[in-house]
Amino acid sequence: MSHFLETSIEYLKGVGPSRAELLKKELGIFTFGQLLDYYPFRYIDRSKIYSISEINSDTAYIQLKGKISHIQTIGERRAKRMSAVFTDETGEIELVWFKGLKWLASSIKPNAEYIVFGKPTLFKGRFNITHPEMEPVGQSLVANQINLQSVYNTTEKLSNKGLNAKGIFKIQQNLTAQLKGKILETLPDELIEKLRLISREEAVINAHTPKNEQLLQKALFRLKFEELFYLQLSLLRQKVIKTEKIKGLIFGEVGEHFNTFYQNYLPFELTEAQKRVIKEIRKDTGTGKHMNRLLQGDVGSGKTMVALLTILIAIDNGYQTCLMAPTEILANQHFETLSEMLKDMDVSIELLTGSTKIADRKRIHENLENGELKILVGTHALIEDKVQFQNLGYVVVDEQHRFGVAQRSRLWKKGKKGVPHILVMTATPIPRTLAMTFYGDLDVSVIDELPPGRKEIKTIHRYDSARLRVFKFIEDEIKKGRQVYVVYPLIQESEKMDYKDLMDGYESISRRFPKPDYQISIVHGQMKAADKDYEMQRFVKGETQIMVATTVIEVGVNVPNASVMVIESAERFGLSQLHQLRGRVGRGAEQSYCILMTGNKLNNDGRLRMETMVKTNDGFEIAEVDLKLRGPGDIQGTQQSGLLSLKIADLAKDGQTLQIARNEAISILKEDANLQLPKNHRLVTGLKNLTKNKTNWSRIS
Ligand code: ADP
Ligand code: MG
Repeated sequence: MSHFLETSIEYLKGVGPSRAELLKKELGIFTFGQLLDYYPFRYIDRSKIYSISEINSDTAYIQLKGKISHIQTIGERRAKRMSAVFTDETGEIELVWFKGLKWLASSIKPNAEYIVFGKPTLFKGRFNITHPEMEPVGQSLVANQINLQSVYNTTEKLSNKGLNAKGIFKIQQNLTAQLKGKILETLPDELIEKLRLISREEAVINAHTPKNEQLLQKALFRLKFEELFYLQLSLLRQKVIKTEKIKGLIFGEVGEHFNTFYQNYLPFELTEAQKRVIKEIRKDTGTGKHMNRLLQGDVGSGKTMVALLTILIAIDNGYQTCLMAPTEILANQHFETLSEMLKDMDVSIELLTGSTKIADRKRIHENLENGELKILVGTHALIEDKVQFQNLGYVVVDEQHRFGVAQRSRLWKKGKKGVPHILVMTATPIPRTLAMTFYGDLDVSVIDELPPGRKEIKTIHRYDSARLRVFKFIEDEIKKGRQVYVVYPLIQESEKMDYKDLMDGYESISRRFPKPDYQISIVHGQMKAADKDYEMQRFVKGETQIMVATTVIEVGVNVPNASVMVIESAERFGLSQLHQLRGRVGRGAEQSYCILMTGNKLNNDGRLRMETMVKTNDGFEIAEVDLKLRGPGDIQGTQQSGLLSLKIADLAKDGQTLQIARNEAISILKEDANLQLPKNHRLVTGLKNLTKNKTNWSRIS
């Protein structure tokens, strides 16, 4: 970075010590360079001046030129406001202010010409503009031939000090005016020519102070591309380094265990997608490459069978394996499913969780160390240091988003003879753009096909007022022999209230569905693990017909006879969570239903979520909508990732640019994996800066 960019922000024209202090506190901007990294979130076309007669109810933000008259203060105390009449050749419109009246009264000059900018709204049959931006014509952007105004996010404190959206634009103007020759190029010339990019200097200047629309678009593309390109380059480089450093264990053969199971005990024909994924895993693990693979597959797509078959391959090659799940309930369920499938085969399998008894624990530890135990299923308890394998070769992690990268890497270290192959399975479909970014260092497999014979789950949205009818529907389903989930939100901050909702709900359901005709299970996070498990098991065995629960049942639980999922206060759940919950039903041959219960008042966002759920069962489609609604920061599992400190690119919107960036990064690394060619020297510096800035970022936040 050049010296100039590290200049302290207070020395910028228009800033000074006290504003500098605020910029640091409020936005973390200490230097010129950091101010440049603070990009606008939108641009306003200020080239056109409208006439008042053109205003109609569709008019958005507009700019008018005219004179102010009849300034007056009306109302008392909190209703106090100032109003004025603004006139041009074609008509007049009222301007209204509620705040800053004193300052306005002293600064507005009647009969001088002003440029007024704002959004007209209809009030009692007439248009007015509230809190318009005002500039004397001589000082206006138009007069200074600035057609595009950049708009920046700001805070109340900054606005009070004159650094509102426009104030920040002004200091950016002061900065970009001095930039010639100060911004170094960061991309190789070859790439710049190939993609016809503008220089970094020109891009930075035009992103803040665009000369015209065309240059603005070029600037934005160049900067977004660059940001995403470096992200991809760094991820892909890490992958190259890993593959060079880590020798993969070789699962050379498919042996007796796999073949016996496949020929005698496989309970169903595999789907094409399952076969394809198993082939992909075979290919990875057979060749001496280290596998680090993400398996994405919608709920119910049959990931467990893929796990089991590939576990058998690992065992055939003399290795131990483990399967790790995020909750005890899930670990139990996996253990039972696998034990059941393997019951006629000679493969040892054990379960290790927080509630495993000491005596069992001891036996498990011993059998792991002497190599007798082949499959260990469990929770986080598996990563404890006490757990030592003789020769761990294959690790399957279910429902990835609950585990951090650090936890994954602790598993790696458990392989004595080398790093075990890793398969991470997730039922949360991740939009392509995110997968490319957050799991850029993983290979990705997708099961995009459900086992045959599944009926599409019917999803229905009902308001709370229709609850009695929903209860009737539940009753009918139970009469047919089905089971029903009723799920309540339990969200940390309001835990007490949520807990009350859950218990109230449980009570009213108990009244409507009384014993002894009906049995109800209840499961929530405040129960002891053993009690939870007991209640779960009653439901799994069909002893209870209704399961009232919080989201603890969200992942993985498999009760094929359950055909109705009622989600209470559905508007409080995110899309991916709703989709996860829905996936608990539709696992058997019967028609299944998901009923989304909400209050009568829904905001737009909530309505869109309900509509999306009703419209589609496709997890990837839902994930895309989720990404657009919430932005990448809220997608599960991505929060911890420092990668989110993107300055200009937006993973929800810039998917296409990301794809281009990734392709370019791949093609460069293909030719020059270690970036040793002279023409790529800027990339080496760029990657270094990236790491440097990332540490800074994490230190600050
Ligand atoms: P998930 O991908 O959500 O973990 P599971 O592995 O739990 O899905 O599978 C869901 C259900 O589908 C299970 O009951 C499983 O036995 C069944 N299943 C899996 N694969 C097939 C298949 N190829 N044909 C029929 N049923 C299958
Ligand atoms: Mg599963």
